[in-house]
Amino acid sequence: MLSPQNISLQTINLPELSSLGIDLRILRLDLIHPEISGNKWFKLKYNLAFVKQKGFKKILTFGGAYSNHIVATAAAGKYFGIETIGIIRGEFYEPLNHSLSFATKCGMRLKYVSREVYKNKSNEAFLKELQQQYPHAYIIPEGGANNFAIQGCTEINKFIPNETDLICLACGTGSTLAGILSTAKAHQKFLGFSVLKGGDFLMNDVRRFLEEINIYKENFVINTDYHFGGYAKYTLELIGFMNDFYRKTAIPLDFVYTAKMMYGLFDLIKKGVIREKNILAIHTGGLQGNFSIKDKLIY
Ligand SMILES: *Cc1c(COP(=O)(O)O)cnc(C)c1O
Repeated sequence: MLSPQNISLQTINLPELSSLGIDLRILRLDLIHPEISGNKWFKLKYNLAFVKQKGFKKILTFGGAYSNHIVATAAAGKYFGIETIGIIRGEFYEPLNHSLSFATKCGMRLKYVSREVYKNKSNEAFLKELQQQYPHAYIIPEGGANNFAIQGCTEINKFIPNETDLICLACGTGSTLAGILSTAKAHQKFLGFSVLKGGDFLMNDVRRFLEEINIYKENFVINTDYHFGGYAKYTLELIGFMNDFYRKTAIPLDFVYTAKMMYGLFDLIKKGVIREKNILAIHTGGLQGNFSIKDKLIY
């Protein structure tokens, strides 16, 4: 139903890398599709196949006001003729931001719930109630994080060169990392960067995602030092880094996920913490989020 196109692997040529003998490449999953972008494309792939196979007419899912998953699900609904419902964290206010107005234009129905209520998003009783309210809807968890997502993300491995010894990516739920890690080569280590403040639970969440498919791996670490204040928060330093990175490489990063990963990666390389020489950073997409800070970016 979805076939990956336009994905490319680019080398980042910068003196601070070559002087250390580091080969850093970036896997541009952001180029897959303008609307169903990056890792969200892989996370949705088997969910959509299941929806088609079972004949569901509706998808219901969850997200914050800037959620790339909400945007991707709304777009997929439009392309595949499936009704979509988004349970959105927080109050409704106008004008809608870019992400939510895009979702609405794709036909997604938005239902706002308070932060308190939203906390129940994976609570069984709450989900049961929602299912009764929307009896014909297929429910996908926040961030798309379910077993179909893990299955889809294993396919990202096809684009990762054998010789890569360290794979870096930004983590929200950790399910993308779990998916790639589940079928990665034994010599490949993973370094995730939590974009959430207090993301210490993420390593256990990754273990749990893997346990569900009977896989046990420990060749990964999730760093929690580069959240820049928390989810979708940023500092001028981060913005400066993004603009500088774009000037030097012509690669746009998003401020919620990939910029935090790349900043962290360069910082750890500079500090001598990272010893691997053959590094792959995954550009997981999310560029639509930059609309909300458009005036601060040179791209
Ligand atoms: C959702 C998202 C992530 C995080 O993926 P998880 O599987 O939730 O860890 C990373 N990068 C981008 C751009 C995203 O949109």
